[in-house]
Amino acid sequence: MSDNTFVWAPPPVPSLPVRRLAARLPVNRLFFVGRNYHAHAVEMGRPVDKAAERPFYFTKSPATLVESGAIVAYPPGTQNYQYEMELVVAIGAPGFRVDEADAHRLVYGYACGLDMTRRDLQLAARDKGRPWDLGKDVEQSSVVSEIVPMPGVVLDQGALALGVNGQPRQQSDLNKLIWNIRELIADLSGFYHLQPGDLIFTGTPEGVGPVVAGDRLDGHIEGVGEIRLHIGAAE
Ligand code: MN
Repeated sequence: MSDNTFVWAPPPVPSLPVRRLAARLPVNRLFFVGRNYHAHAVEMGRPVDKAAERPFYFTKSPATLVESGAIVAYPPGTQNYQYEMELVVAIGAPGFRVDEADAHRLVYGYACGLDMTRRDLQLAARDKGRPWDLGKDVEQSSVVSEIVPMPGVVLDQGALALGVNGQPRQQSDLNKLIWNIRELIADLSGFYHLQPGDLIFTGTPEGVGPVVAGDRLDGHIEGVGEIRLHIGAAE
C-alpha cells in the first residue's frame, strides 16, 4: 500500500514484548538516572550526598532499543564498552508534577535493562564538561527484557545481578537505590510530562566493567526476570 503521507516509509515504532500478552508495549522515551547506587557513584569517582543533591538524568534515542537475547556488534569509536545492569520502570499513565504519594499510579510494570556505555567517551566528555551523547546514545545500547506488568506496584527491594561469561560481575539490591522509584517518578515528572511508554532506567550498582567481542551477559532481577546479551564482532 502506498499513499502520500510521508516522503518515505517511517521507521517502525520501537516496542517490547509484554509477559503473557500478545500485544507489544510501544516505547516512547528512554530516561536514564545517573549515579543512583552509592558504591557505583564511588567507583566512578563522584560520591553522592543525597541531602545536598538532586538526581540527574540523561536520555537516549528510542532507536537505540534492543531486545534481550540480541547479538549486538561491538560499537565503533570506543576501546572501553561497558555494561550497566539496571531496573527499568515502564510508565503506563500520564503524569506531570506528580507527588511521591501518587507516583505508583504511573507504573505499568518493570523490566531488566542494560545501559551499554562507551565509558572512555563518556568520561572524556564528563571531564571536559561536554554532553554525554557519544558515550551513552550508542546504537543498540539500550537493552531491555520483556515488560512484566505490575500496575501500581512500587518495587523497593529485590536482588539484582549480572554475570559475564558465567562470572559474577554486579550484585546488589533494589533497596540500595539512592533515589527510590517514588522519588524518581515524582522528580522526573517535574521536568517532563511523563507519558505511557516512557521507560526509566533507574541506575546501575557497582561492578561495571568492559566487554569484548564474544562475551555473553546474563542479568537477573528478583521478582522481575532475566536479560541476556551477546557481544558480536566489531563491524
Ligand atoms: Mn546507567
